[in-house]
Amino acid sequence: MEDIVTLATRLAEEVLSPHASAVDTGERDLARNLDVLAEHRFYGAMLPPEAGGLGADPSTAALAAEILAGGCLSTTLTLGQHQGITGLVAGQGAPHFRERWLPGLASGRVRSGAAFTGAIPGPPRLRATAAPGGYRLDGAAPWVSGWGMVHVLGAAARDEDDRIAWLLVDAEEAPTLRVRPQQMLAANATRTVTVEFEGHFVPADRLVTVATQAEHAAGEPFTKRLNGSLVLGVARGAVELLGGGAWRAELDECRAELDAMADIDAARARAGEFAVRAATAAVVEGAGRGVLADAAPQRLLREAGLMLVFSSRPAIQAGLLERLAPGTASAQ
Ligand SMILES: Cc1cc2nc3c(=O)[nH]c(=O)nc-3n(C[C@H](O)[C@H](O)[C@H](O)COP(=O)(O)OP(=O)(O)OC[C@H]3O[C@@H](n4cnc5c(N)ncnc54)[C@H](O)[C@@H]3O)c2cc1C
Repeated sequence: MEDIVTLATRLAEEVLSPHASAVDTGERDLARNLDVLAEHRFYGAMLPPEAGGLGADPSTAALAAEILAGGCLSTTLTLGQHQGITGLVAGQGAPHFRERWLPGLASGRVRSGAAFTGAIPGPPRLRATAAPGGYRLDGAAPWVSGWGMVHVLGAAARDEDDRIAWLLVDAEEAPTLRVRPQQMLAANATRTVTVEFEGHFVPADRLVTVATQAEHAAGEPFTKRLNGSLVLGVARGAVELLGGGAWRAELDECRAELDAMADIDAARARAGEFAVRAATAAVVEGAGRGVLADAAPQRLLREAGLMLVFSSRPAIQAGLLERLAPGTASAQ
């Protein structure tokens, strides 16, 4: 069987990369790419083969995500939300919940988005209140990618004890669930929306798990590592255009720092700055033709800009500001 990295490389070269511009400009439906990835079991990339997955270990999954993102960021960002929820169901769902949902999630027959909203420290923006037969959701999830391409939404909401209740919500608009598209500088094909909940009822059997904030925080470094693969993917796309060389060596160093996870926030900041610098150089090298709407250099530069805030955390933001404008972060 083709190994996972070889398979990701082949799909990036044959399917994702050739259509990246058309996906970006809206000429090709992103869902077609997702169908191909589902067919090749990337929806359950980290699940064992007996659960319908590819059995990728964490570092293989991270490298595969980078390669796929190098082919098409929008596709891989959307897939990543599903994989996060699938991992949650596999790792923390009760046996009956896993039995009901995991086969569909693993195959991509059931596709999920993610709203980490209630897991973000500080005052809750999304609350889950016990109601007869289930829960009531109130609040807003500002960033939810994949809307219209997913069947369910794995949503983190804060319960009455300030714990994080993860619920699998039907991804359907209703008078109590309204969505608003986010227009961004790049990756609009991800169909990222803000979801507003107003007394939205979710049945009790849709509860995946309840976690404390400390339990959630324990998984954060790995989430940051995997999201770093999207940043590296954009950088990788630019490095290809620049012909490799010293650029490739720097990409490898960024990856090694992320993999080491010694200071994941610093590694993310370094990767983010590198992606912007590499994409900027690709625009300069591409000259006039590189800034046309369907050209790769300008798309990569916009995507690198987006990656400066996607999956950001205060320490990553501070690290980026220190690299981009030394001295300004501490002066604020
Ligand atoms: C294109 C795009 C698509 C996205 N898609 C999704 C998606 O599908 N699902 C989803 O849940 N999120 C998604 N996000 C949100 C993303 O993961 C980050 O939460 C977001 O980029 C942080 O944006 P913000 O600066 O507006 O902070 P806010 O979301 O407003 O958060 C406020 C503060 O909390 C910090 N913060 C955010 N998340 C955490 C956390 N988990 N732990 C600790 N601190 C945190 C931020 O750094 C910020 O300082 C997406 C973001 C972008 C730009």
